[in-house]
Amino acid sequence: MGREFLIAGNWKMYKTPAESRDFVQSLAAAFPDAPGLTVAVFAPFTSLASLHGLGVKVRIGAQNMFHEEQGAYTGEISPLMLRGLAEYVLVGHSERREIFHESDDDVNKKLLAALKFALKPVLCVGETLPEREEGRTLAKIKKQLDKALSGVNSGDWERIAVAYEPIWAIGTGRNATPAQAQEIHAFIRQQLQEKAPGNRIKVLYGGSVKPENSLELLSEKDISGVLVGGASLKVESFSAIITSGLKLLKA
Ligand code: PEP
Repeated sequence: MGREFLIAGNWKMYKTPAESRDFVQSLAAAFPDAPGLTVAVFAPFTSLASLHGLGVKVRIGAQNMFHEEQGAYTGEISPLMLRGLAEYVLVGHSERREIFHESDDDVNKKLLAALKFALKPVLCVGETLPEREEGRTLAKIKKQLDKALSGVNSGDWERIAVAYEPIWAIGTGRNATPAQAQEIHAFIRQQLQEKAPGNRIKVLYGGSVKPENSLELLSEKDISGVLVGGASLKVESFSAIITSGLKLLKA
């Protein structure tokens, strides 16, 4: 079986509904359909309705959600509310973990709730700089995977994707080298194979991905896509990253 890539943009707290809609329409016109290529944007909640029904090839995701279906949780958005508006949902992004104090247990609840409501969770994991320097990267990632993926039903594994996002590389301009990323991706794949033998779960790399480094990162054999923050905010840079994926799919 050939390679398949998921190239996804995380817009964080940027873009109004109108800007989001214009962006997705321009982006869809900027790259051709290709077997094996999936392109998605993780938009703010407030933009999801404006992206609904555009009928373009860009898939839509949400950046977060609460795990309960409904209730007295002021300000929260539930998986039930997202269903029909988003296909994917990010869970455990490091900004959620660090700024909003989400625990591994919270992330697990969100991931299971996403699966229950037929969403496709993209689980983010990654180490801090001190954890890397102290040789604790693999232990940290194993713990995050073990906790977040506990209780997944056997038929649900293929709907999950994992994003390896070293925290020291997010928004810093300093990406992991392709070799550093490949080492962790191979480890994540091995962990996932132990949990669900034979699965084809995509493992994305995220952290300062840009047009200049996307081709070499995607060339690594265990990297099956990228999660792009800053460089996904402009059609030009995001479509250049998509072009890197297309080159490799055609190679
Ligand atoms: C992210 O927000 O998931 C991310 C990887 O950001 P950036 O590409 O800006 O480092």
